[in-house]
Amino acid sequence: MATSSKKQTSKTTVKAKAPVKAAAKTTTSAPKAVKATSTVDKAQVKAFKEQVEKHLRTTIGTSPEKASKLAWWQALVATVNEDIFGRLTDTQQTHAKNDTRAVHYLSAEFLMGRLTINNLTNLEKFDVAREALKEFGLDINDICEEEPDMALGNGGLGRLAACFMDSLATCNYPCVGYGIHYENGLFRQEIRAGKQVERPDSWREYGCPWEVCRPESVQNIPLGGYVEKQTAPDGSQCSVWHPSSMIKGVPWDIPVVGYRGSSVAILRLWESRSTEQFNWDVFNAGGYVDAQTEKSLAETISKVLYPNDSTEAGKELRLTQQYFFCACSLRDILRRYKRSHHNDFSEFASKIAIQLNDTHPTIAIPELMRLLIDEEGLSYEQAWDITSKSFNYTNHTLLPEALEKWPVYIFEKLLPRHLELIYEINFRFLNGPVEAKWPGNNEMKSKLSIIEEGEVRKVRMANLCVITSEHVNGVAKIHSKLVKEDLFPDYAQLWPNKFCNVTNGVTPRRWILSCNRGLAELYNDVAGKDWPLDLDKCEALKKYADKKEYQDRFMKIKHDNKVALAKTIKELCGVEVDPNALFDVQVKRLHEYKRQHLNLLYIMSLYKSLLEDPDQDIVPQVFIFGAKAAPAYTLAKDIIFAINAVGEKINNDLRIKGKLKVVFIPNYRVSLAEKIIPAADISEQISTAGYEASGTSNMKFSMNGALTLGTMDGANIEIVEQAGIENNFIFGLSVEEVQKLKPRYNPWDYYNADHDLKAVVDWLDSDFFTPGQPGALSSIKSSLLNNGDPFLVLADFASYKAAHQRAQKMFKDKAKWAKAAMINSATMGIFSSDRSIKDYATNIWTLKSQLIKK
Ligand SMILES: *Cc1c(COP(=O)(O)O)cnc(C)c1O
Repeated sequence: MATSSKKQTSKTTVKAKAPVKAAAKTTTSAPKAVKATSTVDKAQVKAFKEQVEKHLRTTIGTSPEKASKLAWWQALVATVNEDIFGRLTDTQQTHAKNDTRAVHYLSAEFLMGRLTINNLTNLEKFDVAREALKEFGLDINDICEEEPDMALGNGGLGRLAACFMDSLATCNYPCVGYGIHYENGLFRQEIRAGKQVERPDSWREYGCPWEVCRPESVQNIPLGGYVEKQTAPDGSQCSVWHPSSMIKGVPWDIPVVGYRGSSVAILRLWESRSTEQFNWDVFNAGGYVDAQTEKSLAETISKVLYPNDSTEAGKELRLTQQYFFCACSLRDILRRYKRSHHNDFSEFASKIAIQLNDTHPTIAIPELMRLLIDEEGLSYEQAWDITSKSFNYTNHTLLPEALEKWPVYIFEKLLPRHLELIYEINFRFLNGPVEAKWPGNNEMKSKLSIIEEGEVRKVRMANLCVITSEHVNGVAKIHSKLVKEDLFPDYAQLWPNKFCNVTNGVTPRRWILSCNRGLAELYNDVAGKDWPLDLDKCEALKKYADKKEYQDRFMKIKHDNKVALAKTIKELCGVEVDPNALFDVQVKRLHEYKRQHLNLLYIMSLYKSLLEDPDQDIVPQVFIFGAKAAPAYTLAKDIIFAINAVGEKINNDLRIKGKLKVVFIPNYRVSLAEKIIPAADISEQISTAGYEASGTSNMKFSMNGALTLGTMDGANIEIVEQAGIENNFIFGLSVEEVQKLKPRYNPWDYYNADHDLKAVVDWLDSDFFTPGQPGALSSIKSSLLNNGDPFLVLADFASYKAAHQRAQKMFKDKAKWAKAAMINSATMGIFSSDRSIKDYATNIWTLKSQLIKK
């Protein structure tokens, strides 16, 4: 309950007295915020306050006296929505009238996080809202904690889609994001006795006030059944699909507000429902439970997000999910196209660009072919011409186990007509371009085929993407090179110009302006107020990087953020950490290739050396982890347990005098990232070179003034290109060195040659960290030795340790560190997702930015 006498007083103040008085009260109660308060328009605060109270009473049905925090948040959102919906209508009318090309971003994941602060920021209403709530005796950050994260994604890929929506809206590109309205997002992680426990995440248990249901755009999607061959009067063959069931797709729209309210884009998420409320015949015959079964089967489709990050679940349900949202989205696209073009499809490809975010939405390709041929009556050739000009594909991984392949028998059962079309596409590809380039070469044909032969025949989704798409892009320079040269070299010979690069980016609105207000103020002062729209402007800070006054201000901002994070850590982990210590952070999904266990081995070696010499002069350090492991990924879960076990021991060991702390913050998600990243001194980006396609947290950290301790992998390479290798700590094998070493790698050589390394690896076998449970951490040692250390942890250990020692040395030189941190932050302009989106718009979509008419 947010009720307080103070709040009631302020309420009467506003009603009874002049607004001047209310504002004066604000300044006196918040002396620290003098600067921000002075710029807030008092009339706006008053109007906002009245709107919130009106919504509290008339939309939520409560009053300031008895409203819960949740009710206040709902009233706040209702107030913000008043601003959003008018702009949404303006945006949609402008796009409809101009009939311009639009991009349709298909993604099985959108990791949106919370929307309130971000929307207020983009509407430039945050300060007004903060002051208005303050007059009710409320803290806006406290109220916004009521919002559940919208976690409809696993990690980087889903968060990228969310940043792209923000940039598409901000840069005024006509667009729609399409995805799945999962009832449960990524699981909520609890840590019990050091171990990960997965709990359901019901993000809209009490409704999501941002979303709007659009019953007028419901779609019915056929599934299953069989294909009948018919002969037309002219003797030609055609296929008629007789599906066995229909699923209803119900669209929910989430408005995405561009910065300064430029335009409002739509994220349309499909929820599955059964087409019949009940099967009435069964119901009337007394089979209430049976009648429910069919209903629940259809509703299962959008029930839950698969928590597999980068490895693939070979699940029928997952293919059904992918097909369901693609089929709904394409029908939606066709419906809108036909509103202005009727049955003339000649302009389709010039109006519609479709971007596939990884292979998850690949089934959209045969579905568009099917809609055009079977339902719109186009010839195969016409349909192929349109389809192959509309689609583009973004590759996100080189990991072979993450490249989707679906058994042919699943297609036969669920999507028989789509399988037929895939065979036709494949036949024409192999006998056309492949035969022309490599005549009579069957080996090449079987390599490039969409169908993988074998005991279980499979459909290779990535091959279908490459064959169909106009452009195929990787997500960082090094990754795009590997996509072209190592993953699809033969396709690159056929179509060298198909392959391109678009380096990922992140939105500076969420990842600086909203989450690090101190730094945002500094940039306002040195770069002017437009830097969130043109992040290159931040380069202005570089010329102050040597000035003591600015170094002090920059590091004071960092320190304040560290104090705030220390408070959060105390609340969530019960561990006391010192904001003066070096905050070394690794937050990301848990995966062997990301090598959280390399970090852990280093921490153990540091601890060991402290035990041997407790008085040595080292920089006090706090190692901060956050990571979810896929529930079936045993070794990843073992690593989480090991981090917690080692942390427990170290944090309670008085001998080391608090010089070292290790915390694992549970349930890592966007809203935690927003608190953790602005407080980091060091950003750990330590993947085995060649395995992290791009990374995006690396960009968020650098923008916020953390120094990267990392390998030459993914976008790390481009980050140090901008910020300078001397301002970061680069270590480890390069991509070429990894490729060379891998075939002859023997981890035992490294283990036997390095005493320190051997000692910490062996430590995992003892019960030192897990009293009474010897062997509880042995699986990690076993993967590093018996399983051949597939990600070369031991090979990079010595170099990693040396990088940490360089970091410690620099941290002692406060001026040098401050300068490096400032240069990192100031030079991240190219990693704004606005730049990424402009690259896509220019090189891939040929899209034009549209001025929105009011
Ligand atoms: C940015 C982000 C990611 C991606 O992190 P990487 O370190 O690039 O893998 C994952 N999860 C969340 C919550 C994020 O904000």
